[in-house]
Formats: sequence, C-alpha cells, structure tokens
Amino acid sequence: MSGIRRRRPLITVLAAVIATLGAAMAFTLPQTAANAAACNGYVALTYDDGPNPNTTQRLIGALQAAGARATFFNIGQNAQNYPSLVRAQQNAGMWTGNHSWTHPHMTQMSSAQMASEISRTQQAVQQAIGTAPNLFRPPYGETNATLRSVEAQYGLTEVIWDVDSRDWAGASTAQIVQAARGLQNGGVILMHDNYQTTIDAVPQIVADLASRGLCPGMISPATGRAVAPDGGGNNQTDPPTTDEPDDPTTPPDDDDDTTPPPTGDGDCTAVVDVVNDWGSGWQGNVMITGGGNGVNGWTLTWTWPSGQSINSSWNADVSSSGSSVTASDVGWNAGIAAGQTVNAWGFVASGSSTSPQVTCTAT
Ligand code: ZN
Repeated sequence: MSGIRRRRPLITVLAAVIATLGAAMAFTLPQTAANAAACNGYVALTYDDGPNPNTTQRLIGALQAAGARATFFNIGQNAQNYPSLVRAQQNAGMWTGNHSWTHPHMTQMSSAQMASEISRTQQAVQQAIGTAPNLFRPPYGETNATLRSVEAQYGLTEVIWDVDSRDWAGASTAQIVQAARGLQNGGVILMHDNYQTTIDAVPQIVADLASRGLCPGMISPATGRAVAPDGGGNNQTDPPTTDEPDDPTTPPDDDDDTTPPPTGDGDCTAVVDVVNDWGSGWQGNVMITGGGNGVNGWTLTWTWPSGQSINSSWNADVSSSGSSVTASDVGWNAGIAAGQTVNAWGFVASGSSTSPQVTCTAT
C-alpha cells in the first residue's frame, strides 16, 4: 500500500537560522561518524508540570523544529486528563517522567501518601502510552530518605537538576537562554511546560548547545545524568541499534523492497510530511495509517527521486542502500490500529525536500 502527499511549508526568514541549526546539530541515531562526532557531550532538557492543553503541543513543535528531544516530567492528574498529549510527547520522541499526582510537598507526607502520588501517576502514564516512567522528579526538588525508598519500590530514578532556568519565577526568554549556557556535559536543566517564554527559548538554547558541541540527550535511568539518546522512544534504555531487529520474533529490518505484504496482519499506508526546509536540508515526519485490522509492526521502503539522503532519524531503525531507504518500527511504536494515523517517526535529510512514494508493509 502506498500514498503520496506533498506539503511544502512557507520558507520564512527563519530559514537561515534553521539551516545553521541543521548543520550544527547532531541528531539521534546518527547515521554517520561525522554526525556522531558533532556531539561531544549531552545535556538533558526537562519540562515539568505538563501536559498542558495550552502549551504542550507548541513546546513539542519547537523542540521538533530544533531537532531536539527532551524529558517531560508530567503531573499525573494532567496525564490522566490529557492522555493524547502524553502520546504526542512520545510520538515526538520525547521521554516521559513522573512528577507526582498532585504536585505536593512530598517530604511532609507519609510513605503511604508518597506511594499513592507516585503509583497513580505511573498508572496514568502507563494508560496513555503503554509504558510507565522510570524517572521521577519530586515537586520543588524536595526529597528525603523516605521518598527515595518509595521511588525505589517503583523502579524510579530520582532526577533533580543542575541548572534552574527560573522560568517559573518569571525569567525572560533571554534569561532562560542564559541559564542554559551553564549546562555542562551530563547536566540537567529545569524548565516548565507552561510558559511561552520557555517555548521561545528552545531554538537559541539548542543553537548555543550545538556551538559548544553539546546535544540534547536522554536521562539515564541508571545514573540520572544526561546521555546520548537511544533512538527509541519513552523509557527505552538499550543502546541504538541499526543492524538488528528489536524483537527477535520479527524478521530483520533489511528486507528487500520486493517482499510482499503478509496477509492477515492488516496493512498500512505512509506518507512523508515535509515539516521544515532550509534549502540545504529538510526535516520529514513520517505519518503511518493503519488499514485492515491494523498492524503490530511495520517496515517502510521508498526510493529517493534525486539526491536525497537521511542524515539522522529518530524512532525508527533506518538503513539506506543507494537511493533506497528501509525503515522499521523500534518496538514501542510498532502498533497502529486500523484507521489510526500516527506521527510514527522522523528524520533530517539532505537534498531537496520531497514526499516520496512510500510502501508500508505490515511485519
Ligand atoms: Zn513541578
């Protein structure tokens, strides 16, 4: 099954800025040594207190436009009220952490109350995206031995921060950008998912990091420190793999283009949306729609019309051979219901933006 769609955004005066970012930035799942070498270290951008119906989508959009991934420490009540926004975080390659159910001063609570705050949030996130967080940030950064023991019972790693953006205290965009300049390799910055100033700071923060050889990364559940993104989605801790299937029961992802879709597994269609084009390169988001009975795994193939190549990607196992591209799910984004369309993964490519004819195969 295949589909064709072409969408060209307006090229704005920001094109030059975006081009600089695109060139300087290292993305997840680097496909070449050159890309990998661009990151001399990683920092974690963190956004607390969401999801928020007024801001979360725009924050995600700003991060995607900058090619950045971040960790969202969601309040459980908000996650329950806006599960689609938690899914949007995950679909955009962001990581989801637990930030308590009601944002109380937890060090004043009994261990049973602490457990309730944590477990209800674990469940709400699990219901939204299918996996529970493995990172916890206590509200106000307030913690004690009792809280840490409760966190441990839920397999959570506590994450405070190294740099406070003070966006919560009314910091301007310029002040938030300036605070982020204090980040060092492995460091974590506190921001929030409900301020326009914070959203507006994203492009400059990412550009500043790139100028110092630093890239936005994930928070290691083992250490609570920023490390290279794993190329997968929420809560995955495995190192990036591009040459082996994520699930030993699924066929290798380097199937050739002639493999017919299996019958009985449903089917799928996919299109490449051009979401940014800065002249020398572009960002594509790949939308997949489940057909038939839906799919529990997918592989996409296409052939570039002329000169394009993928420089980096997220949330898919991607391999290229000449002008041919093969991309497969990375496990957590394998399932797509019939009639459901998801922003399954994305990439940054060189050459001219195009929406190639994509073949989607259920696996
Ligand atoms: Zn908070």
